[in-house]
Amino acid sequence: MNNRQLFLQHVAQTSDAPLALEIEKAEGMYMWDAHGKRYLDLIAGISVCNVGHCHPAVVEAIQYQAQQYMHLLVYGEFVQSPQVAFATMLTQHLPENLSSVYFTNSGAEAIEGAMKLAKRYTGRTEIAAFNRSYHGSTQGALSILGDEYWRNAYRPLLPGIQHLEYNDFSSLELITNQTAAVIAESVQGEGGVIVPQREWIHALRNKCTETGALLILDEVQCGLGRNGTLWAFEQHDIVPDVLILGKALGGGMPLGAFIASHDIMWSLTNNPVLGHITTFGGHPVNCAAGLAGFKALLHEELIKDVKAKEQVFLQHLKHPAIKAVRSLGLMMAVELESFEVNKKVIDYCISKGVLTDWFLFASECMRIAPPLIIKEEEIKWACSVICEGLEKVLEK
Ligand code: PMP
Repeated sequence: MNNRQLFLQHVAQTSDAPLALEIEKAEGMYMWDAHGKRYLDLIAGISVCNVGHCHPAVVEAIQYQAQQYMHLLVYGEFVQSPQVAFATMLTQHLPENLSSVYFTNSGAEAIEGAMKLAKRYTGRTEIAAFNRSYHGSTQGALSILGDEYWRNAYRPLLPGIQHLEYNDFSSLELITNQTAAVIAESVQGEGGVIVPQREWIHALRNKCTETGALLILDEVQCGLGRNGTLWAFEQHDIVPDVLILGKALGGGMPLGAFIASHDIMWSLTNNPVLGHITTFGGHPVNCAAGLAGFKALLHEELIKDVKAKEQVFLQHLKHPAIKAVRSLGLMMAVELESFEVNKKVIDYCISKGVLTDWFLFASECMRIAPPLIIKEEEIKWACSVICEGLEKVLEK
């Protein structure tokens, strides 16, 4: 059997039509397959490789830390310098109340931890989330996921969950003094890049403050520069009580985090002690990688050109078959007629060496979320391939 057949046979599948590209090397904006074919990466491993694939500083940090120590002991017992340094640097770049970082292995685990934290801190049990939201695939995260098709097969799920409508003022009435937390993406990703209206997200913040519910903002997909500011909530001019990070946080390694005030986080320390336990969360090699990636993001000033690059995309994504483009920085959804058209264009792009994708709850939309290092010529070329794909698909 060749590698592709072994992959289908022995690596558990969750789709009957996986892309099954066999990548041998990835660097910067590109991936190369087993035949040496090059792909321009327009999706950054779903918003992970913000600083590009295999950033040399990240690789070096991994190599160094792997030689010092890897796993030592479960989360929180030892002072591990990569964790301390990364948590310190993150909090230096966050509002004052977001001062305590709990590192996890993934975005979903950060959501799970934050849900528990909100229940512990408030003594309440109800949680509100939004339709068309995605927060992960574990059972707590699945309970708050905002789409019945994806949720329903796994019932029973957590009780006490309300689903509200994003950008809808009347939904906010459902937040009460029984609500432990409201969990929202700062920009909805899998819903097809839905940006919150400024007045609405302010009303949401106010309602949480009034009722004593914690506002948990999920920036797993949108955070770390993708929207043109380090954090998406900066653009909305609000501050959450708990911030959820993942994906790009590890510089390409698995790392998530939930971040809150010291006071809120302290509720995990007693009655029962060890309120949230993880063996590998905040792994020293992953924290070293994340710290190196974060420094690269800041020192190479990758965020400052994000909005200009968004404009280059918007100028060149012009085709009668494009119904709309929704974007905030380099997080973009190109809305087409249907999933069928979208899938054919995606396949065409891949055949031409441009890797793109669709969204879970907006399958008629093409995903564009490249590494932030993408250059103007690469954007123009990618847009020309997408438009060419639309021509080819629609002429048939
Ligand atoms: N929140 C959001 C907004 C996400 O997009 C994702 C992953 N797509 C998650 C949470 C879950 O992250 P993970 O896959 O690392 O569990």
